[in-house]
Amino acid sequence: MKRNLFDQLNKGRFSSLAVLQWILPLALAVTAFLFEYAEHKSEEELIFDLPFISEVLIFGLLGPICIWLVIVWMRHLVAAERQAIAKIHALNLELENKIIDRTATLEQRNTELDKANHELHKLDEMKSEFVSLVSHELRAPLTAINGGLEVALQSAESLTSESRRTLEAMMNESARLTQYVQTILDVSRLEAGRITLNLGPVPVAPILHRSVDVILGTRREIKWNLPAKIPPVWADEIHYEQIFRNLLLNADKYSPPKMPIEINVHVDAHNIRVDVTDHGAGIPADVQEKIFERFQRGQTSESAPPGWGLGLYFAKKLTEAQDGVLTLRSPAWPELDAPGSSFSITLPIAADAPDEGDHA
Ligand code: ADP
Repeated sequence: MKRNLFDQLNKGRFSSLAVLQWILPLALAVTAFLFEYAEHKSEEELIFDLPFISEVLIFGLLGPICIWLVIVWMRHLVAAERQAIAKIHALNLELENKIIDRTATLEQRNTELDKANHELHKLDEMKSEFVSLVSHELRAPLTAINGGLEVALQSAESLTSESRRTLEAMMNESARLTQYVQTILDVSRLEAGRITLNLGPVPVAPILHRSVDVILGTRREIKWNLPAKIPPVWADEIHYEQIFRNLLLNADKYSPPKMPIEINVHVDAHNIRVDVTDHGAGIPADVQEKIFERFQRGQTSESAPPGWGLGLYFAKKLTEAQDGVLTLRSPAWPELDAPGSSFSITLPIAADAPDEGDHA
């Protein structure tokens, strides 16, 4: 830090200022006294008369005392400044030490966090591998059970109606279990980054019609609202269909069977949006925030339709992996008693690909 002149002069007990404090007034007093003495003597006046004494008092005593006081005051100021500087130095040092301490603590925490993160990552990978292995191992016996049940049901005439109903219920449950195992397997593959996307131009309408046929058949009314010409979407055909099927399954599961499901396709300059809208009870705003997370379900009561809370999570991840967005609007019909929900998949149009024919 730069020191000023007074500070330099006031260093130490016998500093220049301390010497000056005495020397200067003394020199002035002697000079004034000698000057006055010489002046009065040359004028051949009485030396120790009143003017002589008062002039000596004023110039030889009062003046030097004033100068002495000023220098004392200056020394005091310099000392106070030095004290303040020393205090600032001490504070600076303390601050620097604190910063060093905190930085060291932060670095240590960072290392600990990194370690914990690494372990979590490893655990997550192990969990994904385990889930993947288990679901993979479950698939083979489930396929055998499904096949066996199908064969058994083919000879339905030889069965009592009760046995047939039991077999049908077993078949439905087994199909549901197979579906869950497949979803878990897909989710764990997706999370492990093991899902490969084969992106390319995909015709929209045939996929929508095929999914409706497979998921709903003719048991539910569908209201189609498709433009006459839909350009192909840029997507992975299998995964695009899977997303749409998940939305259809939910619309079917969460809305009364007699109410129609609406399928709407909207094409703009860059994207194709497919809306799946149902006439169910709708989804409250606070529930909407969490249902796209894994294992999150809206309804948790005993009477709620079966599910694991993975369908929307998977659908959203798959959509995003294809550079698309999956959105939800509920209520879809605010003015109705059953306000419904509308899920939309938006994906880019495949550029330079020929339009589909008339599928409306
Ligand atoms: P799951 O159906 O197995 O619970 P999803 O991830 O598919 O899992 O859905 C999460 C939750 O979102 C569901 O539990 C349900 O509460 C809500 N949900 C999804 N689709 C609809 C819908 N069409 N109408 C009302 N609620 C829905």
